Amino acid sequence: MRYYAGIDIGSTAIKIVVLDEEERIAARHAAPTGSHFHRNTHDALQLLLARSGLRRGDIVYLTTTGYGRKLFTEADESVSEITANAAGAGAGRAAGAVRTIINIGGQDSKVILLDGGGHVGNFAMNDKCAAGTGRFLEMTARNLGLDVEELGGLHRNAATPLTINSTCTVFAESEIISLLAHGHGRDEIIAGVHYSIARRIVRLAKRIGIEDAVFFDGGPALNAGMVAALEDELMRTVIVPELPQFTTAQGAALLARSACIGRGDQVSV
Ligand code: ADP
Repeated sequence: MRYYAGIDIGSTAIKIVVLDEEERIAARHAAPTGSHFHRNTHDALQLLLARSGLRRGDIVYLTTTGYGRKLFTEADESVSEITANAAGAGAGRAAGAVRTIINIGGQDSKVILLDGGGHVGNFAMNDKCAAGTGRFLEMTARNLGLDVEELGGLHRNAATPLTINSTCTVFAESEIISLLAHGHGRDEIIAGVHYSIARRIVRLAKRIGIEDAVFFDGGPALNAGMVAALEDELMRTVIVPELPQFTTAQGAALLARSACIGRGDQVSV
């Protein structure tokens, strides 16, 4: 059996997906990116191999994507995260239906419009301001003494989300501390942060247009409160894949498989 790997080296997390010849996920792994991109990606891959029982030689093509994609020199190829995300969104049960992808990452967010054939038509990106990214969620969790995984559940308890007025995470941090000091509830603050991020990403999306079906991925799509706020602001439902943090890595692995087939390698199933 031959395997194809996609590695999404994001600003916050390294995500690895290994596909078999039938495009099934054979192994996956996520690890913090840290500051040593090459070493941490190498270590994450070694860990995935050790846990899955695969050998490095079983992986016949390895494609990187994401913020640090050029820094991992063991790769056969690197592709942009827009291309990889589009390929990944076209892979699951929503294949063919997705026209808009909303991706919120650790330090950026983007909206990708696909044409009817699943190709990238247009995209818009925010990589300048942390207020519309996972960084804002991490800062909120830290200030409230929580893990980021807990935010979604607490959002559900909020009677009325508070409005977070600050347009910058530095000021938003002071605003959250001040809201707490004035006796406002933690759950209402969390919901307010989710709505604040959702409004930003919807503004970004409106610049290029929003078409159904809308697909939401990236780590923050694991947060049910973030999903609910985005659906409210979009006034439509979104498709969240089973493994939203891995979509882009999966897309890179699919592109690795296509590259192999494109160069004439035979698939041995
Ligand atoms: P990047 O590709 O830019 O590194 P990711 O798509 O991996 O970003 O998303 C990272 C963000 O996802 C973190 O900043 C955090 O806010 C959020 N996140 C990660 N895991 C979870 C989780 N289990 N529940 C909720 N949010 C999460």
